[in-house]
Amino acid sequence: MNLQIPFNKPHLTGKEAHYMYQAVYNGKLSGNGEFTKCCQRFFEEKYGFKKCLLTTSCTDALEMAAILCGIQPGDEVIVPSYTFVSSALAFVRQGAKIVFADSMKRNPNIDAEQIEALITPRTKVIVPVHYAGVACDMDRIMEIAEKHHLLVVEDAAQAIDSYYKGRPLGTIGHLSAFSFHETKNIISGEGGMLGINDDRFIRRAEIIWEKGTNRAEFFRGEVNKYGWCDIGSSFLPSEVVAAFLWAQLEHLDDIQSKRKQLWNKYYELLKPLADEGRFHLPDIPDYATNNAHMFYLVCNSLQERTALIKKLKENDILAVFHYLSLHSSEYYKDKHDGRELPECDRYADCLVRLPMYYELNEDDLEKISKLLAL
Ligand SMILES: *Cc1c(COP(=O)(O)O)cnc(C)c1O
Repeated sequence: MNLQIPFNKPHLTGKEAHYMYQAVYNGKLSGNGEFTKCCQRFFEEKYGFKKCLLTTSCTDALEMAAILCGIQPGDEVIVPSYTFVSSALAFVRQGAKIVFADSMKRNPNIDAEQIEALITPRTKVIVPVHYAGVACDMDRIMEIAEKHHLLVVEDAAQAIDSYYKGRPLGTIGHLSAFSFHETKNIISGEGGMLGINDDRFIRRAEIIWEKGTNRAEFFRGEVNKYGWCDIGSSFLPSEVVAAFLWAQLEHLDDIQSKRKQLWNKYYELLKPLADEGRFHLPDIPDYATNNAHMFYLVCNSLQERTALIKKLKENDILAVFHYLSLHSSEYYKDKHDGRELPECDRYADCLVRLPMYYELNEDDLEKISKLLAL
């Protein structure tokens, strides 16, 4: 299929292959080398994380978080149902029961006002997902967590370089997970990162990261031999992946400003159609910034969304929907407690994502908006 306008195109900044070549000839290809350290330091210094660890995916970072939170079989974790599988899966692998929460009416983020009613003596963690890189109401969520002695793991997969009341997303909860999958703003093919904001987790996180060993401490000369001290896995990416990521991070500001420019143009072009009631535009609360991760529309019905996607497809433009509600997924439907989650179902039926990538230009956007006006 040769699409005129695909849904996504991975953007290269130009130096990826050069840095990968350098990593190859540095003589150190495994993880936790110079490029890995550069990337981690970049995030720690720019955003103020206590510690960052690159991982091979956001899913892996969430799995590390589930281990660090000490999830035991039967523990409960509160997760929005309108999210990517990994937000729940990572905790399920440690034996957690997922208690799904509904989205807000105004946008697909977890409805913080409904969280407290879901808490039981077995609840351990709340997982806010910053959908489209737009912040959840973190003050409210942290206040609930503190009151009930819960941990907060931010699924910040889509939320790089986005803020809540001036605070970078991923630095507010105890732990956070980012994705550098090729569909995100900053990419390394597959890739991710664990953000740690609570000192208690730093040492153990490094051990879990390196197959349950204290290898990182050994290479820093802090211990004179290393061995097996905990559970864990091989969560760290190779230097080749970190080298690719470094080339992207060097251009973070340029990538973000280009995406925001496109996002704003979309908004301006589609505003008159939204005013006519054809669909709803993304909602960004006053407490949140927009990192232009995606441009979505919420249609008035499933039928209207199907027609919209079809019309674009006939013109070789690919728009997509996603997130079938996790509470009614094949894997979880029999485990769910039966509560209805109407907002989540509405987004699953009515939300559509328009093409969004660095190389899009204003002509493309005008073409798309003209089609949507028909
Ligand atoms: C992309 C995404 C993930 C998974 O990221 P990977 O790096 O592919 O594991 C998890 N959660 C959300 C909300 C995502 O958008």
